[in-house]
Amino acid sequence: MNRTEILARLSDPSEDWDVIIIGGGATGLGIAVDAASRGYRTALLEQADFAESTSSKSTKLIHGGVRYLRGGEVGLVRESLRERGRLLRNAPGLVEPLPFVVPAYRWYERFFYGSGLTLYDLLAGDLGVRSTGHLSQSETLSQIPNLRSQGLYGGTLYWDGQFDDARLAVAMARTAVEHGGAVANHVRVEELVKESGRVTGVVATDQIGGETFRLAGKVVINATGVFTDSVRRMDEGEVGDLIAPSQGIHIVLDQKFLGGDTAIMIPSTDDGRVLFAIPWKGKMLLGTTDTGDVPVELHPRPLEEEVDYLIDHAGRYLAEKPTLSDIRSTFAGLRPLVKPSDSQQTSKISRSHYLSVSDSALVTMAGGKWTTYRQMAEDAVDRAIEVGELETRPCLTHDLTLLGGEKGSPDESVSDGDVEPVDPDLPYTKSDIRAAIREEMGVALADVLCRRTRAMFLDTEAALRSSEKVLGWMTEELKEDASWAESQREDFKKELASYILPTSQSPS
Ligand SMILES: Cc1cc2nc3c(=O)[nH]c(=O)nc-3n(C[C@H](O)[C@H](O)[C@H](O)COP(=O)(O)OP(=O)(O)OC[C@H]3O[C@@H](n4cnc5c(N)ncnc54)[C@H](O)[C@@H]3O)c2cc1C
Repeated sequence: MNRTEILARLSDPSEDWDVIIIGGGATGLGIAVDAASRGYRTALLEQADFAESTSSKSTKLIHGGVRYLRGGEVGLVRESLRERGRLLRNAPGLVEPLPFVVPAYRWYERFFYGSGLTLYDLLAGDLGVRSTGHLSQSETLSQIPNLRSQGLYGGTLYWDGQFDDARLAVAMARTAVEHGGAVANHVRVEELVKESGRVTGVVATDQIGGETFRLAGKVVINATGVFTDSVRRMDEGEVGDLIAPSQGIHIVLDQKFLGGDTAIMIPSTDDGRVLFAIPWKGKMLLGTTDTGDVPVELHPRPLEEEVDYLIDHAGRYLAEKPTLSDIRSTFAGLRPLVKPSDSQQTSKISRSHYLSVSDSALVTMAGGKWTTYRQMAEDAVDRAIEVGELETRPCLTHDLTLLGGEKGSPDESVSDGDVEPVDPDLPYTKSDIRAAIREEMGVALADVLCRRTRAMFLDTEAALRSSEKVLGWMTEELKEDASWAESQREDFKKELASYILPTSQSPS
């Protein structure tokens, strides 16, 4: 995936794109894979890095959504379970089965959750992972040694999928390029081009080199998550908001706070929220929150009350209780929720995702979840074919293996054998950094430390400690100079602020 070559294609005026996608998160990259694999000439432009916004800040679950069953949303759960099964098959190196325990602190809970989760298994049909089962108190504690034993009756064990969100995004970008797509990070769409009232292209600027591109395409798709309304306004002027962002944060702790490789799912906390404690890359992720009325920004920051809520709830369910000083990292993401009241006749709106076409033929795909990105992409491209009057070709992604998603990949194939560690507390080496630059379009220090490796998500202090060493390797590999390195330090510092505790809670 060579960015220089891709930018050359984007600036070539003879390129006539079938599909231009704005946004390189789960939604846009999914659409790029679908469109490129059907053979359409596909370009995708991402203003920051792939998955830099919401798509790298998820709970990292490929799941049906057990809690939707409670609301009776059987169709949504069935669709998500089907997509979970496909992802486990199409990217087995990036999406893996994960056992969860729902602890029972009331006598009837094992049977209540056991029957709900058996229905969950049944809805997955042939694409199920493994069967749900009852656990005694001692079996529950052997799965999760640090679970509070006082008042514990037992638990229900069930299975779902877990993944690395930013790495799946890179695998999708590579797959789209493999199929002929031109996919670029750090290229921002500034305006839409219109002819006779119809959107026929975009004007975009390379945020690194400063070059401006004017792309012409048969159909333009807005896949910008919480930024959806800013692109709708480029098209329609002052329109009301479609998206109501909701913030969710996670804190990252050492895995000893779980004590094992099984996740905990608390289906309903005292205030009715779902809470997950999940083993991930040798750490534990705890989340999430649901905070409305937040501004739309690329790097939202965790709020003090959100961190307090998670620490407080961890203390209620765990024997060894974490404190603020145990937090290794924290990250916040914005859910691109679609306001229900904006449902129009011309729009298709559902709890899972929202697809619409404006009067000037801009296609917008918003909402949904990481888990359902493939179905969202299929729906968006089917609609784009009608809007852009493209030759009809069937969707091929049901069984498409994602590049870098095979088992044992991605880094082994590109490793040059240089195993110098990035930091003793991080599971990365110099060859991972080189692969990120050479194969995965990691062009900024933050790209490499946040999304090609997940160093910042695992341990901010270790990531910060390693940053000068990594920057040195990058400067050499990219043949850059000291002023470039200085600008990287500045950009990295800005992003760093979103992974650390609010000032009042920082140790010092
Ligand atoms: C806390 C939290 C936990 C979650 N957990 C899960 C989970 O476990 N499982 C699950 O399935 N789902 C989960 N989700 C939902 C999932 O993460 C989102 O639905 C998904 O990531 C949204 O992807 P997106 O591509 O629509 O948006 P984004 O990831 O925000 O991507 C949109 C992109 O558009 C780019 N963009 C904006 N404007 C422009 C422009 N002018 N030019 C170029 N690019 C532009 C942005 O930079 C951004 O990268 C979670 C969400 C949150 C917030």
